[in-house]
Amino acid sequence: NKRNNRGCPSLFAKEQATELEQRGLIEQAIRSANLDKELSVYFQPIVEVSSGRIAAFEALARWHSPQVGQVAPSVFIPIAEQSGRICEITHTLLAKALSEAANWPHEIKLSFNLSTLDVSAGERTLKLASIVMHSDVDPRRIDFEITETAAMGRENEVQASIADLRALGCGISLDDFGTGFSSLSQLHALPLTTIKIDRSFVSELDKNQAGYKIVKSLLSLSRDMGVECIVEGVETTAELDMIKRLGGRLVQGYLWSAPVPAEQVGVLIAKHEQT
Ligand code: C2E
Ligand code: CA
Ligand code: CA
Repeated sequence: NKRNNRGCPSLFAKEQATELEQRGLIEQAIRSANLDKELSVYFQPIVEVSSGRIAAFEALARWHSPQVGQVAPSVFIPIAEQSGRICEITHTLLAKALSEAANWPHEIKLSFNLSTLDVSAGERTLKLASIVMHSDVDPRRIDFEITETAAMGRENEVQASIADLRALGCGISLDDFGTGFSSLSQLHALPLTTIKIDRSFVSELDKNQAGYKIVKSLLSLSRDMGVECIVEGVETTAELDMIKRLGGRLVQGYLWSAPVPAEQVGVLIAKHEQT
């Protein structure tokens, strides 16, 4: 009918325009942001299945811009990567995360996300190392998370960076494992300490045969490779039961806690000590 014919195309164009405008606004806001003031770090526990204790916290970026409000990391990190401010953002977040981790019990580790650009040149790795060395956190308590795509991008540079961070004593986790296109032989070349199984394989684990088989084989692969394994995005007790049955040791997800601000970390630690 006439009304739809008139309304739909222009509405669609309008939505596209707003999305582009929004992106432009975010880009501008990132350029002019006072990073130290506007960025904060939330923490999500990584839990040991057998004891219920917290093995680590993953640091997750939060940005509140006075111009555009709260922006999710999945939105602003890719824009920051393109607009050239990502390394500065990483440095600000790392310093903040380390100053929190310095107050935690020492058996609890910090997991910190890096973007591809953070590990694609030697001098960038030096800067990361220097921030770690100037903190009050033992490098052996830190795991840097990189995604499969990052690891496969500029292979030589990335491999050298990873080797440098390992030499410092830090661990390297492969994030979102199973979603990229890396071959096992490529992975084998990296000195990984942990793989994180992406949450897309975990949702409805009890019902989804394919997801179940993938989690099962990734867990056994990690055992064969002699690396630690974290199952991400665990939301239900049914999923947890399945992971337990498959011998998963470390888990992370809303079943335990969403990411929380630094002030609430102490409460989470106390709660898990008692279980
Ligand atoms: P990621 O590294 O895979 O982080 C896990 C994301 O899943 C987080 O979203 C977390 O809040 C969410 N999550 C945790 N448990 C569950 C669950 O049980 N169910 C569901 N549905 N989601 C869960 P968040 O905080 O919005 O971060 C999104 C992505 O943004 C991260 O994915 C990571 O790729 C990126 N990111 C976040 N912080 C940083 C950072 O400091 N640096 C870099 N380079 N990237 C970051
Ligand atoms: Ca991560
Ligand atoms: Ca992940």
